[in-house]
Amino acid sequence: MTTTPASIKSVPFGDLKAHYQQYKDTLDQAVSRVLASGHYILGKELDAFEDQFAEFLGLPEKRVIGCASGTDAIYLALLAAGVKSGDEILVVAHTAVPTICAVVKTGATPVFVDVCPDTLVMDPADLEAKITSKTKVIIPVHLYGQMVDMDQVMSFAAKHKLVVLEDCAQATGATYKGKTAGTIGDYGAFSFYPSKNLGAFGDGGAVSCNSQKAYESLKMLRNYGQSKRYYHDEFGVNSRLDEMQAAILSAQLPYVKEWNEKRRKLAALYTLLLKDLVVTPVEAKDNYHVYHLYVIQTEKREEMRTWLEEKASVQALIHYPIPAHLQKAYAYLGKKKGFLPKTEYAADRILSLPMYQGMTESEVEYICAKIKEFCQTNNISKLGSQTGSKV
Ligand SMILES: *Cc1c(COP(=O)(O)O)cnc(C)c1O
Repeated sequence: MTTTPASIKSVPFGDLKAHYQQYKDTLDQAVSRVLASGHYILGKELDAFEDQFAEFLGLPEKRVIGCASGTDAIYLALLAAGVKSGDEILVVAHTAVPTICAVVKTGATPVFVDVCPDTLVMDPADLEAKITSKTKVIIPVHLYGQMVDMDQVMSFAAKHKLVVLEDCAQATGATYKGKTAGTIGDYGAFSFYPSKNLGAFGDGGAVSCNSQKAYESLKMLRNYGQSKRYYHDEFGVNSRLDEMQAAILSAQLPYVKEWNEKRRKLAALYTLLLKDLVVTPVEAKDNYHVYHLYVIQTEKREEMRTWLEEKASVQALIHYPIPAHLQKAYAYLGKKKGFLPKTEYAADRILSLPMYQGMTESEVEYICAKIKEFCQTNNISKLGSQTGSKV
């Protein structure tokens, strides 16, 4: 183990203030430009960002629309796909609950699929057991920055004529077999929540899609269903990415690849230093994982989290402690503990360690030294051997 850099006394989970200071000049310029423009909604900043983001994803047809949040991105994509009350949507319970909120808002029913125990993303092998005649859409959630096995999802979807909506909120820039998240399914939904790999300074989201019809429909849906001013061709909502956030995102987009590389470097160092102490994240074959979160698994999760906070001033979080099917809001679906064994097993063991683009390797070394100390203090060796892929 590397020696603890003596100057480090604490590590926060993220540091958005430092991030702003690092990019202050470009961010201030972007904001000033919008303030002085006199145009704040649906203007040229949004047009420019949508084009740049499409290019970043590798979508030559440039079918990307900005919207108000990642939750709305999922909701709007489901509406564009024609989802209505009574339809069923295949989705994991091991996700940020907003994925489920967006499904329920359409009136559709989420049907929960279990995860792969090593990567903790959707297990395509569980789709067959959960499909019914009412199933309309599959939502593969590219959790923690790693994509779902999309070959299997796409072939299942093709066989059963289902729409595929990728939840890319945690996976901006991730790839699977060289294809960027959000370009494989029919739709991709992105979140620009401030702490995501590409974050706004407020709320924001985007939808990518692969057909002109869906693109035209999404443009109307996010703007009261208007085709042109005062002509409302469809139902619609108010969900737009404002000019200020679009300008802020455009200013940062050129750095995202570099930030993702940095996250991968930090993750590799974490894994090197922790692999004998805990279960470290698995990067599946054909994947470029962008480590939105660095998530370990350990039997002593609660003890470790508390100890890190109290004894080492390291902030570690849990994504997510209660799977969606066990949340009070979704009790009406009638799924009890035991329904998703791999999801529930993981939920009791996962711990997210600090991970952000401005973090230093010394900070990773400090955290790993502290985790080693925790393991030694508690006489724990190779916690990892008790967990992992077999449930
Ligand atoms: C953040 C997140 C969302 C919601 O995005 P918001 O912009 O906060 O609405 C949805 N799904 C996943 C997996 C997320 O991480």
